[in-house]
Amino acid sequence: MYDFVIVGGGVVGCCISRALSRYDVTVALVEKEADVSLGASKANSGIVHGGYAGKAGSLKGELCIKGNNSFESLNKELQFGYKKIGGLIIGFSQEDRTNLMIQYENALKIGQTDFKWLTRDEILELEPHINPNVLCALFSPSIGITSPYEMTIALIENAIENGVTLLLEHEVTDISLEECYHIETSKGMIKGKWLINAAGLDSGKINRWLGNNELTIHPRRGQYILLGKDQNVVNHVIFQTPTEKGKGILVTPTVHGNLMIGPDAEDLLEDPKTETSITRLESIVKQAKNSVTSFDVKRALTTFSGIRAMSSNQDFFIKYVDDFAITVGGIDSPGLTSSPAIAEYVVDLIKEKCQLTVKKDFNPYRKSYFEMENDTLVCQCEIQGKNRILKALNGPIKLTTTDAIKRRVRAGMGNCQGLRCQPLIKEIISDYHHIEKNAVEVRTETDKPSRVSIEEIRLLSI
Ligand SMILES: Cc1cc2nc3c(=O)[nH]c(=O)nc-3n(C[C@H](O)[C@H](O)[C@H](O)COP(=O)(O)OP(=O)(O)OC[C@H]3O[C@@H](n4cnc5c(N)ncnc54)[C@H](O)[C@@H]3O)c2cc1C
Repeated sequence: MYDFVIVGGGVVGCCISRALSRYDVTVALVEKEADVSLGASKANSGIVHGGYAGKAGSLKGELCIKGNNSFESLNKELQFGYKKIGGLIIGFSQEDRTNLMIQYENALKIGQTDFKWLTRDEILELEPHINPNVLCALFSPSIGITSPYEMTIALIENAIENGVTLLLEHEVTDISLEECYHIETSKGMIKGKWLINAAGLDSGKINRWLGNNELTIHPRRGQYILLGKDQNVVNHVIFQTPTEKGKGILVTPTVHGNLMIGPDAEDLLEDPKTETSITRLESIVKQAKNSVTSFDVKRALTTFSGIRAMSSNQDFFIKYVDDFAITVGGIDSPGLTSSPAIAEYVVDLIKEKCQLTVKKDFNPYRKSYFEMENDTLVCQCEIQGKNRILKALNGPIKLTTTDAIKRRVRAGMGNCQGLRCQPLIKEIISDYHHIEKNAVEVRTETDKPSRVSIEEIRLLSI
């Protein structure tokens, strides 16, 4: 029996695992997929938001700013990649200026005091490729960018190093309480004294299994286009002025230097899939061009989408739902930013009922694969060598797909999108696991969505 069983290997479950691995307790993280970070934590904007991203007085607002403040030190410990590049929320009209003022006042109430108003000239000096019709902007130096899946992987790798057990391909199918929690999974039953439900889109369902009906999850999809590094024409995160209709489309560099545009917001009903559609992507490009005029969508590399787990109460839902069960659900944006603070919040809830003793030998550090020697090149586009791929295969999680390698060492993320290196990576995986090369899959996710091809994107005349 484990002291703590955490359901869900997204950034939230992995952050909580790592936070608990500081203490002298046994922890299992249970994830239905064959890797961590295959839900919302894989496909999002990767923005480390400022305090404006949650309303003053909400848990979202409080945890977003606390989370933002912890990224610098967390990245020093775990080396997942984080850059505090700052962000601009730009406006084109008096109406936008009024809406920006609301953001400014909210940020002040929440404790974010670094926002600065910029004039048109100042904006164009910072960002020469912004639409010259821009009128005003709010600038925040504390906004940053990160790689969400590399962060999630780093968290769980460090948690495993500190004693956490990761159980992949264990889908939780039911939970009952008989002295302790009996967690039924696709691979047998697991017992836990405590249960933490961090199951993203499934957090509402699991909450109901725990006897609480207060949380309903509404899936909301957001689509993106990722462009080549040669299209990275901005230095900061460029947001549009949020309105009642939505947050607008952002244009941002990624932490590895690509340009990314998106996401839109599409409410879904049943069986949400991470597919992309040409009509929505076309609209995203048009809206992005309102902010930044000079990128060439024909240099797109790929399209993808992620699904937000919107909670029925518009705020994060983090509370005891049974004597020793905590649901951490409805973690939509800015959940990535907030995740370190969410983990601390959960640990504080636990400490209300049980004493946690810090382990003497807790090791907070984890080395990035990019710190390791780069030998014979496998991925020419991203300059990644065989040694790093082998290091990833040798890591604490069993990796069997080319996508799992890609998320760790970027081999296959470049201009050719794995056209040249994917067969080589399959060979390395097959040699490593002594399996047939054609048995090595690209991905194993249960959600195999259809995505708009780059050929279709290149036909867009925008
Ligand atoms: C389009 C989009 C843009 C966003 N942009 C940002 C941003 O820029 N900045 C920011 O701060 N936040 C952003 N977010 C929000 C952020 O991505 C999420 O808040 C965060 O990833 C949520 O993490 P999670 O661990 O709760 O959920 P997930 O990552 O979805 O993890 C839940 C996990 O639970 C597993 N699971 C589900 N059911 C079961 C089961 N029955 N048994 C076992 N495992 C199960 C899933 O497989 C999954 O791995 C964005 C989200 C989206 C979708």
